[in-house]
Amino acid sequence: MKNPPKPTPEIWFVAGSQHLYGPGPLRQVADNARKIAAALAASKKLPLRTVFKKVLTTPDEITQFCIDASAAPDCAGIVLWMHTFSPSKMWIRGLNLLSKPFLHLHTQFNRDLPWGTIDMDFMNLNQAAHGDREAGFIHTRMRLGRKVVAGHWTDPEVHDRIAAWQRAVRAWNDMQGARFLRIGDNMRFVAVTEGDKVAAEMRFGFSTNTHGVGDIVAAMENVSDADIAALCADYEKTYAVAAPLRKGGKRHDALRHAARQELALTAFLKEGNYKGFTTTFEDLHGLKQLPGLAPQRLMAAGYGFAGEGDWKTAALLRALKVMADGLDGGTSFMEDYTYHMSPEGHQVLGAHMLEICPSIAVAKPALEIHPLGIGGKEDPVRLVFDAKPGDALNASLIDMGNRFRLVVNEVKTVRAPKMPRLPVARAVWECKPDFKTACAAWIYAGAAHHSVYSTAVTGEMLEDFATIAGVELVTIAANTRLPEFKQTLRNNEVYYHLAQGIRA
Ligand code: MN
Repeated sequence: MKNPPKPTPEIWFVAGSQHLYGPGPLRQVADNARKIAAALAASKKLPLRTVFKKVLTTPDEITQFCIDASAAPDCAGIVLWMHTFSPSKMWIRGLNLLSKPFLHLHTQFNRDLPWGTIDMDFMNLNQAAHGDREAGFIHTRMRLGRKVVAGHWTDPEVHDRIAAWQRAVRAWNDMQGARFLRIGDNMRFVAVTEGDKVAAEMRFGFSTNTHGVGDIVAAMENVSDADIAALCADYEKTYAVAAPLRKGGKRHDALRHAARQELALTAFLKEGNYKGFTTTFEDLHGLKQLPGLAPQRLMAAGYGFAGEGDWKTAALLRALKVMADGLDGGTSFMEDYTYHMSPEGHQVLGAHMLEICPSIAVAKPALEIHPLGIGGKEDPVRLVFDAKPGDALNASLIDMGNRFRLVVNEVKTVRAPKMPRLPVARAVWECKPDFKTACAAWIYAGAAHHSVYSTAVTGEMLEDFATIAGVELVTIAANTRLPEFKQTLRNNEVYYHLAQGIRA
């Protein structure tokens, strides 16, 4: 397990029914529900273990179950299925108390109808077709956010839908009570990296608190020379380290300083039980270099990070790291940096001053040292690499004042042309549906220059995450057209104003 740990909580599975059917059919309902839960538990696609709990048949049972699930630390989410008819007024009291995300699985135990032998007993045991509609009404009537997945429980597509939701649930569970460290404050005068930390904690469950950079400098003084030497040796094994940075090289001291930063930051994050952090180049008193290598390696270890005090993107990166755990591909802090606006095809060059996560690298990163034009400090060391080509997305979380908005753009990362004089890690991508539409839509949506880039997380996972959080999601993808997109933004202004009121 990497550090910070990725949680592996359980998903609780329950079936709804009622006593009208008598004890025999209810036993059958329980057996069937247990089989479905076991099939989900055994599915390699699903990252969390599904545990069958019970068949719920009365208002008191349902209420007690919802209280238990809400209170259980191991339960991250619930799958509901109405095997038979379960009059849904029985669910109102419980659902009012439920504080965990739920998925409504609209399935049926028997896949095929036995046309030649079908009778009323079969019909009574396979009536989710209307039982789940009764449940859906009460969920909609109560305005409950949830995911509805329809299809047979053995269908691989159904497992894919549930898997995406489980990944979102896992990230949500990880975010509850998560702590983020903001070293220093915001980059001066920058707007989009600001935001309401109180509203964020009310909405998402994570807190962000500050420490002066002096606390990190003090932690750096506690790092031993032996630990620094060992970490530098590890760098030489893991990366293509530039000759001057290697042991005995004339700039090895700069690498040792970066190692000291990494060891101190790691210890500080562990001690404070933090899941992510931010730095700012405008507050580096006592540091010889802007931390570059340390955030790169800490991101690769699973920590959230963003530069310039951008705590929202740091928290979002941690969430996507948790969603992506165990999947192919990488996830990184990213910034739209510069454009290739050729008539033959427009491309975006994504990078940052230093801090891109090596989990997205196509090959072994080079560890290099180069000057940095801002911050007024010594040259920082950093990992330099190209991003691996493939389907990817960028996600940005902004504070609209009365709500948070999550903006997603699906992109296709291509092989990066050779850029021998560019001293930072980079990704080159083509936007969907096309550069002009995507960039205009991103800007109309007010999305940031900072984002979380991932080749592992899907739009569906982020849609499920936004539903659980109850935040606005706008997606820029292959089917996006600007006039409709602009109208969606206008509609959402009204919807979220009415749906959320002024609480934010
Ligand atoms: Mn930046």
